[in-house]
Amino acid sequence: MQTIHEHFIQTAEVMQGKTLFERPGRPDISFSRMRDMVERMAGALTELGVAPGDRVAVQVEKSPEAIALYLAVLQVGGIFLPLNTAYTGAEIDYFIGDAAPRLFVCDPSQSAAHAHRAGDSLAVETLGADADGSLMDRAAQATAREDRHPAGPDDRAAILYTSGTTGRSKGAVLTHGNLSSNTEALLECWRFTAEDRLIHALPIFHTHGLFVAANMALVAGATMIFLTKFDPEQAIDLMGRATVLMGVPTFYTRLLKSPRLDREATVNMRLFVSGSAPLLAEDHRAFAERTGHQILERYGMTETCMIASNPYDGDRIPGAVGMALPGITVRIADRDSAAPVPDGQIGLIEVKGPNVFEGYWNMPEKTAAEFRKDGFFITGDLGTIGNDGYLRIVGRDKDLVISGGYNVYPKEVEEAIDALPGVLESAVIGLPHPDLGEAVTAVVVPKEGDLDPDAIRAALSDLARFKQPKRVIVAEALPRNVMGKVQKAELRRTHADLYA
Ligand code: ATP
Ligand code: MG
Repeated sequence: MQTIHEHFIQTAEVMQGKTLFERPGRPDISFSRMRDMVERMAGALTELGVAPGDRVAVQVEKSPEAIALYLAVLQVGGIFLPLNTAYTGAEIDYFIGDAAPRLFVCDPSQSAAHAHRAGDSLAVETLGADADGSLMDRAAQATAREDRHPAGPDDRAAILYTSGTTGRSKGAVLTHGNLSSNTEALLECWRFTAEDRLIHALPIFHTHGLFVAANMALVAGATMIFLTKFDPEQAIDLMGRATVLMGVPTFYTRLLKSPRLDREATVNMRLFVSGSAPLLAEDHRAFAERTGHQILERYGMTETCMIASNPYDGDRIPGAVGMALPGITVRIADRDSAAPVPDGQIGLIEVKGPNVFEGYWNMPEKTAAEFRKDGFFITGDLGTIGNDGYLRIVGRDKDLVISGGYNVYPKEVEEAIDALPGVLESAVIGLPHPDLGEAVTAVVVPKEGDLDPDAIRAALSDLARFKQPKRVIVAEALPRNVMGKVQKAELRRTHADLYA
């Protein structure tokens, strides 16, 4: 096995002056330049006392230098721990307390706020979006390091905190083997090569932007058009010079709102990938009609990197996430008995393979509870594998609604609602109900104008009675986090007293 860092160095030797990062209005950064930056940064880390196994917590703006820091941490055998830029004081306290890093790197604008953290066991340095900050100064003066800490597949590479959709974020400990094997599998599945030019508009503190998008480009020798935020019009402008877009579903919803999205605008593109949250089946179809491209939806999580993908060749089915990646096994187990379920039935999605993380940081009991005796990891997502072999996700186990003793899978009801005229999207949740335990409740967003809740309920009479929403709430938008994940826990809190 080669670590991502080793593979990058090898690629940089071949690519040399080729552009790795392209940014609007900024100078390009070549593979050679990046390699130099990584080696200087590794020198600075060593001078700061970062030793193999040490955590390096990083809360910085998206920049090529931040990616260099990531690779440098891997080079010296450290454990890279990126943090969401939205986290503030108390949250940072929690993550720093939990992970006990050797070094914390923050934005220069935050250095005063975090100065008090510096002490014998924790160094605080800064890294800004304009290649500024104390860490950059140190790197400029440091002796570049070419040697690397020899890391094996089971050595720890990163701690990535989960998105916190279902509760407090957990630190997933990922090994070099997890990252390298997953990148290899994705390169093969999506035919990703040095010829590719990737529109990278995702944050880099999450698995999608860092361990899918960035790792693939770094290792393959591809160019990244590196953007700090997603703007649909800018993305359409760039498509003439790009080949691949990796996005969350909201990217596609927003692209579809532009009248400029059409066949001509996307003619140079070869692949559109979606993940991190369910892609609306209607967006999948509309995108194909407008551009001739079928969006390729894939499924993964922080703990497992990518698990399954629709095929590159062959049908990319709306509402399905495809087949397990090479080397990975997916099975569906009964929620209660854990026995395998027959094809087509719904159960817990479980996964085993070189992609599956070591465990949750500092949470041995939680880790033990999420693994089966035979090594399968219980994802907490519910799904089915059809006769066609495709995996379909029906929602999270924690979002399952149990109403009057019956299981209601939100996705089924959401799909029925989304298919109604005038509906943009919906979220189905269970709310406490005096008789039913939980009552099926739908939050529905109109395409434009208003919707009549009673008309929606009446239009759902084809669904079994226990699946029909007891109430329909019309809302302007669904609450989402930066990755486009609908925050159902927040909806449950907001409407907790609806049936009280
Ligand atoms: P937490 O575990 O802290 O509650 P989270 O599960 O949202 O947060 P992530 O690891 O970022 O944190 O997200 C993984 C989850 O995202 C998966 O378990 C799954 O529910 C969802 N997901 C990812 N890709 C898809 C997809 N293509 N379709 C549907 N859901 C997806
Ligand atoms: Mg999760």
